[in-house]
Amino acid sequence: MLQTIESLKDLQGKKVLVRVDFNVPQKGGVIRDDNRIRAALPTINYLTGKGAKVILMSHLGKIKWKEPDPAKIEEMKKANDMACVATRLGELVTTKVHFCPATHGEELAKAVADLKDGEILLMQNTRYEKGEEKNNPDLAKEWASLADVYVLDAFGSAHRAHASTVGVPTILKQEGKPVAEGYLMVKEVDNLTRCVEVASSDRPYVAILGGFKVSDKIKVIDSLLKKCDKIIIGGAMAYTFKKAMGEAIGHSPCEEDQLDYAKKCLEEAHGRILLPVDSIVTDSFEPTETRTIKECEGGIPDGFQGVDIGPKTRELYKKAILEAKMVFWNGPMGVFEQKEFQAGTLAICEAIRELKGQAFTVCGGGDSASAVKQFGYKDDFSHVSTGGGASLEMIENDGHLPGVDVLR
Ligand code: AMP
Repeated sequence: MLQTIESLKDLQGKKVLVRVDFNVPQKGGVIRDDNRIRAALPTINYLTGKGAKVILMSHLGKIKWKEPDPAKIEEMKKANDMACVATRLGELVTTKVHFCPATHGEELAKAVADLKDGEILLMQNTRYEKGEEKNNPDLAKEWASLADVYVLDAFGSAHRAHASTVGVPTILKQEGKPVAEGYLMVKEVDNLTRCVEVASSDRPYVAILGGFKVSDKIKVIDSLLKKCDKIIIGGAMAYTFKKAMGEAIGHSPCEEDQLDYAKKCLEEAHGRILLPVDSIVTDSFEPTETRTIKECEGGIPDGFQGVDIGPKTRELYKKAILEAKMVFWNGPMGVFEQKEFQAGTLAICEAIRELKGQAFTVCGGGDSASAVKQFGYKDDFSHVSTGGGASLEMIENDGHLPGVDVLR
């Protein structure tokens, strides 16, 4: 059963441990995009407003624990220090934000004990602990001992069964302590569940898949083939499908070991999969002045690779999208990082803008969400997810995520 933070009673003075997703893009402590911090503010402000002592934990970046050189581990830790996030959070809320550089032990326990009602403590990066990603029971026990209540608001991490997302709430539940979902979590799960459960009023349901690899999205394609009326495919992954149909793809990226899978999908889809009928191709991926970029219909000649969908495909895809009552999109249509190859991804954004108010439209995080924000179309979508991996996994697993399953 879903328990929201609003159903939590008597929060005054309670220690509420909130797992947030503050995995923001940053370098040297300079945050490029604070969207993920902002996305957690409704939950944080609600809890501090009720007089709770709010203990925040999140991961930031990656620490490769397999690295044998301890000095390199220290470098990775330094590169993913959470202190900059505490500073930014402090600018976004009206209450006091403390930062604890420790992730366990007396220093952390003392920081929690010193916290006053309505204040916030952000703990150092959860991944400073080797046991976090392994869901180490001792670590989960220590973190759980800090809290009276647990709240999950880290949608972007809810597909990972780590100590902070699954271990801690499991222990607190066993101890009979309340666990709940924050506002962001509820919003994300509700919107993505709609893309999984598919009411008849949400048909036609059109999925748009792009990005690099077919192999990364096999389970998503399988799931969407069962649910969708049409699947639009673009990006590099389209060329594996094109080759499976026997078309020449030049030097476009192709996963040879996925050709049989692509063929099987096309057969099962009975015409519901749309593939590019033309492409923007180039003889060099590198942005050199002398490279040749051209439109190409049908097969792609040797020496050239497809880097975006072409103008006819843009029209074809736009038409299919405009007929939809629900759209789920994950993955760019081309190499949108280069201006010359943005048109395909932009055309999808434009189609969604035209659909505004007439259909339920979801952008499932990751690179497509970056493109949507970069191009200024965020407000045209019903929902832009903060979690790429998590939203794909919700689609793959029929609405289930480890972090959500523990709580509900
Ligand atoms: P993914 O992480 O699988 O969603 O892939 C996103 C990446 O795919 C982006 O960095 C795009 O630049 C890249 N991409 C999309 N289309 C192509 C293409 N036709 N050729 C090479 N890379 C592409």
